[in-house]
Amino acid sequence: MHKINFDENIDCLQFIKPSLNKKLKIHFGHRIIDYLLTFPKNINYKNYIQRPISLADLKKQITIDITVKSVKIGFLKSPSTILCENKFGQRINILYFNISQKFLTERYKKGEILRITGTLNIFKDIFQILHPNSILDVSKFQSFSEFEPIYNLRRTNIKQKQFSELIKRSMIEFDRQKFDEWIQKKILLKYKWSSFNESLKFIHTPITKNILDLEKFRKRLAFDEVLSNLIAVNSFKKKYSFSSNKIFIKNTTLSNKIISTLNFSLTNDQKLAYKQITYDLNSEKSMFRLLQGDVGSGKTIISLLTISDVLNSGYQGALMVPSEILAHQHFNYFSSILKNYGFKIKLLTGKLSIKEKKEIYNDLKIHKIDLLIGTHSLFNKDLFFSKLGVIVIDEQHKFGVNQRLNLLNKSQNSNVLIMSATPIPRSLTFVVYGEIDISIIKEKPKNRKNTNTSIVGPKKLKELISGLKRLIKKNEKIFWVLPEIGIDEESDSQSSVIKRYDYLFKVFGEKVNFIHGKMKKKLINDKICKFKNEQIMILVSTTLIEVGIDIPTATTIVIEEPNKFGLAQLHQLRGRVGRNNLISNCILFHNDKMSENAKKRLEIMRMSNDGFFIAEKDLEIRGGGDMFGTKQTGLPSWRFFNPYNDIELIEEVKENLVSLMDKKQRVRDLISIFFNESKFDYFFSG
Ligand code: ADP
Ligand code: MG
Repeated sequence: MHKINFDENIDCLQFIKPSLNKKLKIHFGHRIIDYLLTFPKNINYKNYIQRPISLADLKKQITIDITVKSVKIGFLKSPSTILCENKFGQRINILYFNISQKFLTERYKKGEILRITGTLNIFKDIFQILHPNSILDVSKFQSFSEFEPIYNLRRTNIKQKQFSELIKRSMIEFDRQKFDEWIQKKILLKYKWSSFNESLKFIHTPITKNILDLEKFRKRLAFDEVLSNLIAVNSFKKKYSFSSNKIFIKNTTLSNKIISTLNFSLTNDQKLAYKQITYDLNSEKSMFRLLQGDVGSGKTIISLLTISDVLNSGYQGALMVPSEILAHQHFNYFSSILKNYGFKIKLLTGKLSIKEKKEIYNDLKIHKIDLLIGTHSLFNKDLFFSKLGVIVIDEQHKFGVNQRLNLLNKSQNSNVLIMSATPIPRSLTFVVYGEIDISIIKEKPKNRKNTNTSIVGPKKLKELISGLKRLIKKNEKIFWVLPEIGIDEESDSQSSVIKRYDYLFKVFGEKVNFIHGKMKKKLINDKICKFKNEQIMILVSTTLIEVGIDIPTATTIVIEEPNKFGLAQLHQLRGRVGRNNLISNCILFHNDKMSENAKKRLEIMRMSNDGFFIAEKDLEIRGGGDMFGTKQTGLPSWRFFNPYNDIELIEEVKENLVSLMDKKQRVRDLISIFFNESKFDYFFSG
């Protein structure tokens, strides 16, 4: 039999059906290991009883082995009954109402032994289980465990049972592959950690029902994860620091000129950040700087000033953003200022034809383009600059690990400025970027008022509508955000862009319009333009508008079903308003009854306008177990590492890294677990 390695493509596992194969690739990755590196969110306990059952077991969920004696098909209102017996001779009936005869005769064959899970009841002195939750064929199913990990499969459309089965079967393959340990002995001893294989095995086949008992294994895997990240960034950095052709930017005439034409003055924090940047640009080392500042703190202008000086010194610039809308917005903004000084600016998005792209690539190479703005299409391997002086990455938290590594690779000889609204602790930035300088903008621009946030229930819809009418009269604009689009396969939920638009259209007519991600990019941009020009006053949208959009005359955002969004995401969305000196509002409009937790979350939004506080609270409410959730907090997403609990590991990771200097194979193994193969070349060439 062909031996299968964990880092092979999932296509080689024949038991994975095409539909599941597709979903796995979308949500986890192309390799077997990509879904194996999933930490369970909880453990389901099956109370497996191998003794005679008793009255004490009543009303509890139990799992028992029974032999089928006979099947009686129900008629009209009477249930179908399967008469069974356990090996202690006790009679147990299994009952079904309204079930197909076909199902029963296929599932329950006389004489077969089945492992049934369900709630035990008693009726006329006979034990019975109504509609069991699970029926396993004991002869075919050997690896039964009382403890079943539950995975977070939200939004993946993959069933729990299907996923557990997949993990079980894949782990058998995985078990055969052995690695030499990459963690130092003293660290292993200190934390009493098991090997990587063992740890992974334990999280998927737990032997207790307490998820906290998996903590030790999670922590080991978190250590591995951080270590692999650090190795990755370091190996890039090593290449990068050898680069000799340092670009010096001494001349700040242009940025000073631009500052003098702004209709506002920079805040002190902005001034300081900019000073630090100009210092970097004129020093021996290339700039590698992170600019952190909450939504609306004014990061864009800083990047514009930086770029203007670079261009003015005869170099090119690149500005990368995570969405096309944002790319357009930045293109318009940068053009409006920089074109006055004769610079050539181009927009590179996915929708350009091959011919147009080729033209851009060509013009870049011969320096006919000064500044290129675009999405991650900027990392195309055919794209080369003639004299790249600076790369700016906006809203960095939206990019994944691989894109981050790509960035490091592309930027070898250049200055790099990364901008993010996500506050991450310094020790963490080290893991993510290696050595990086940080500037922070804490201060909001003057005259900014905090956005008023209110929590509004479905009964208040009429009032909400009349409120909006008043705003429109004052020429103020409104975003209305929903979690779903509401076309094709999606549910018939009331809270979709299409449904809400239909409703609002009846009230506001042409003044309202909508956008969503399945629309043509051009149409979206046209509508956003119309929204800017007041031809549209209410823009109904999905989270398409989540990051970066800057339309200062929009003063109000309604977020429907706010509990479908992460808190950090809500904070980003709210950041779309409150961008000038008008009073702004964020209305969290919930549809249904809310759980206590849901209320608590929204209350945090109402109480605080501070992104850092919100991110922290979010994690607190979710609890450490919700690793998937960190994606939504806006922090870089990790599979095992918990940015709030595991920070203390980082020092040990650094130390461990040193001990691996001459252990190439181990490094290679570790890297291949957490990163996919196509990245290998970067790590090990040269
Ligand atoms: P973010 O940090 O979220 O990217 P932006 O750079 O988009 O924020 O800035 C938000 C808005 O604030 C923009 O309209 C920008 O022109 C404006 N702005 C930036 N700096 C200042 C300032 N010092 N005073 C007043 N307004 C400012
Ligand atoms: Mg921004």
